Amino acid sequence: MSITADVIQKDKQFSVPVAGRPDFVLERGEGVTVYDADGKAYTDWVAGIAVNSLGYGDKELMDVVANQMSTGLIHVSGLYHTQALADLAELLCANSFADKAYFCNSGAEANEGALKFARKLAYVNERKNKTNVVSFSKAFHGRTLGALSVTPTEKYQTPFKPMVPGVVVGEFDNIDSAKEVIDQDTVAVIVEPIQGEGGINLASAAFLRALRQFCDENDAALIFDEIQCGLGRTGDLWAHTSSGVTPDIMTLAKPLAGGLPIGAILVTDEVAGAMQPGDHGSTFSGGAVVMRAGEMVVKRVLSPGFLERVKEVGDYLLERLAEINSPHITDVRGRGLMAAIELDIPPADIVAQGYEHGLLLVNSGPDAIRFIPPLIVEKRHVDELVEKLTVILEGINGEG
Ligand SMILES: *Cc1c(COP(=O)(O)O)cnc(C)c1O
Repeated sequence: MSITADVIQKDKQFSVPVAGRPDFVLERGEGVTVYDADGKAYTDWVAGIAVNSLGYGDKELMDVVANQMSTGLIHVSGLYHTQALADLAELLCANSFADKAYFCNSGAEANEGALKFARKLAYVNERKNKTNVVSFSKAFHGRTLGALSVTPTEKYQTPFKPMVPGVVVGEFDNIDSAKEVIDQDTVAVIVEPIQGEGGINLASAAFLRALRQFCDENDAALIFDEIQCGLGRTGDLWAHTSSGVTPDIMTLAKPLAGGLPIGAILVTDEVAGAMQPGDHGSTFSGGAVVMRAGEMVVKRVLSPGFLERVKEVGDYLLERLAEINSPHITDVRGRGLMAAIELDIPPADIVAQGYEHGLLLVNSGPDAIRFIPPLIVEKRHVDELVEKLTVILEGINGEG
């Protein structure tokens, strides 16, 4: 049996079938390209779901990880100090609204923690009856029960009910709706400044400003989930930067440690002040190898010219996508290297055709294909993408 057939057979036999995977086996990567076991190349517009910001095989990242490994300290637990954790916490605080950082291991875990932090803040302020959390239509905040409870997609929630109580859902990017759902019972409002899984939907600056105002009026914590849109993807360091609004809590994960598992909760001193030793924790939180990778990634994103280049290639991507002349494209939207085309045909068909043409693509919501490549992608890759998408869409026209 070929490696490919062997691996696929084994995976089908021994893995819980929570993902439908295509019929090839990825073996290695370089830059923005991954290769399968048969040597076929795929230009990667998915980046491990907006994780691999520096692409594949970044020498500096591999060195930083190897160096920390060579100290023998991979993990010490949250019981002890390491310089690696202190350095990343300082770096993130120095470059955001935050005064303090907490580290964990995934996006869902960061959002779980954020909701707990908000509840503890209300608790220490003698507002113990204030427990409702507001989230918005088409949001995605993760798959654990708390994070799932603020992810109002039937398909994700229904088999796992009951959800955590007290969640109130408003309409995304609708100020009137937000005003209706945020009240004195609201402990926290959680929102993605740009929705990633829900279709690449951009919150207007006015909407984010209104959320800030309603949270202030009702003593609620404002949580920005920048797990997908943050850390340079939009061409700004944070997706909320251009709105002029700052949250009380921001959650990060996906790209932060260059592909190693990480989550982070960034908070103001006020929020941090409500937390005491023993209130929250996780065994693996803040491991030294992961922290060093995170520090390196953040420094790279902050290095001269990096964000400008993301903006430039991101603008080019949107411009070129908008030029594709296909009756099946009903909208093109995004910011920076976080873009989508909305379709009147199932995105899965395009994703499948992409594999044939050497492209890794992924949907966003039920009717869009999203583009969330490594942030080192170049204009020539955009040209290749547009050329291939045009061919794929023309083929579909022909059939229809
Ligand atoms: C992916 C994602 C999450 C969940 O992160 P996991 O690491 O998969 O738990 C939460 N929020 C947003 C915006 C995401 O894109």
